[in-house]
Amino acid sequence: VRLFAAAELPGEVRAALAGWGAAVGDPRLRPVGEDSLHVTLVFLGEQPDDAAARLGAAVVACAEGPVRAGLGDPVWLSPGRPHVLAVGLTDPDGALGALRARAVAALGVADERRPFLPHVTVARVRRGERIRPAHETLPPVPPLSFGIAALALLRSHLGRGPARYEAVAHAVLPSAGPG
Ligand code: ATP
Ligand code: MG
Repeated sequence: VRLFAAAELPGEVRAALAGWGAAVGDPRLRPVGEDSLHVTLVFLGEQPDDAAARLGAAVVACAEGPVRAGLGDPVWLSPGRPHVLAVGLTDPDGALGALRARAVAALGVADERRPFLPHVTVARVRRGERIRPAHETLPPVPPLSFGIAALALLRSHLGRGPARYEAVAHAVLPSAGPG
């Protein structure tokens, strides 16, 4: 089973991001469905079926909060030959980075050497299309500040059409409160 740990966004943030993607309105891009918008914290890839329950419990045990975050700037990944359009997340008090660090430790994976760049993939570049970031203008991202809604271990069902994610384990995070 193909697994990853993800931070889940409040519904109004997903709606705002889907609206932003629609405002980009670029036919070279394939939008991610509103319900599928998420923040990948740890990508595990293929794991044995019988490991899923243990990994799910490990992820749920990391769910301490609140974890405040904000929408930041749009970013093309990878910049040299972009394949996705994402919106970066701000991590004003380091809680999102700390959440990821706990998940990395709990799942027993080697941390990536690259710095963590929290982001939400909003659209994917369609096969055969080419984006030149320096030539693109994008609408402003709504400056939302919010609490991460939940932490989940998600199973990814690959195949044609939009990827489908299924929660193996899920833990709601305490609300961050206003501000
Ligand atoms: P598709 O691959 O069909 O376009 P998807 O990327 O949403 O759909 P997965 O490839 O299973 O589905 O990825 C699940 C999540 O993990 C996504 O957020 C994806 O960006 C992320 N991800 C996938 N591969 C990696 C990787 N090698 N390193 C880090 N994150 C990854
Ligand atoms: Mg993928």
